[in-house]
Amino acid sequence: MLKLLTAMLASLTLLCAAPVRAASPPAGQVALTFDDLPGLSLPNQRYVDSFNHDLLTGLRRHRIAATGFVNEGKLDELDRGHQIAILKRWLQAGMDLGNHTYSHESLNTLGARPFVADIAKGEKVTGALMAARHRHLRWFRFPNLETGADTATKSFVAGWLAAHGYRSAPVTIDPDDWEFAEPYDDAVLHHDHARAAYIREAYLAHSALTIDWSRKAAHALFGRDIAYVMLLHASKLNADCIDSLTGLITRRGMHFTSLDRAMRDPAYRTPDPYVGADGIEWLERWSQALHRELPWDDFPEVPASIVTSYDKLENDRH
Ligand SMILES: [Zn+2]
Repeated sequence: MLKLLTAMLASLTLLCAAPVRAASPPAGQVALTFDDLPGLSLPNQRYVDSFNHDLLTGLRRHRIAATGFVNEGKLDELDRGHQIAILKRWLQAGMDLGNHTYSHESLNTLGARPFVADIAKGEKVTGALMAARHRHLRWFRFPNLETGADTATKSFVAGWLAAHGYRSAPVTIDPDDWEFAEPYDDAVLHHDHARAAYIREAYLAHSALTIDWSRKAAHALFGRDIAYVMLLHASKLNADCIDSLTGLITRRGMHFTSLDRAMRDPAYRTPDPYVGADGIEWLERWSQALHRELPWDDFPEVPASIVTSYDKLENDRH
């Protein structure tokens, strides 16, 4: 009898709680974006073909419509025909493509006019592939998220993008995957399976912290979850982690959406007043516009062992 009473009370509590839950903000949605197509690193064509294949297979398995941002300068770094075929496969798999400039040179180093020339140079192949499918190239992602170190540069480039039908793709979850991806390539290419497994785990742990931080930051700014835009790169790391990475998002009750749909969230109408040399993500930009503090004390840093590995590889290259 007591058990029955307890069960009845519990269901009554649930019933009472239901309207409160319905009124709470909807769970956040996440649009995945992958920069530096056909690949963040290009050790050899087979490697790049293979991780793109695995990444696309994973995205399709989870019914995710992602957006890939292309650096056409990378097409000639390996076999041009194969590299273009990778871009076609992205479109065939139901993904969208955007422009990430031809050379991936920073706006800060190039200056405004050479930078927009580099954007125009970077749309030739991708634009034609899209046009053949009656689609338009509309998304642009700033390399290193550097949008202009001074007001004149920032507004010149923003004006050029608008006049050429581009929209800048913001970033509201940035798990620094590039910093893990290069040590991961190195481990894989040296057949160091233990190290590769360690990097995958460190990357997923850091991604989980980054997602949680972005949600906390969105609550500090808007009092709710927003539709997030996650910055990733076309890499073997993400191809190998795609199931676990999507699991991090779905386990939090979040769902996938496209970049177009995510951008319908009114949060993306918040002004971006930031002018400066650093490539910062958009929650930080909006915190300046809204004069609200972000939870910096909880900001997740990339583990020191990963930073050291990345820096060592960079030093060896130069
Ligand atoms: Zn990039």
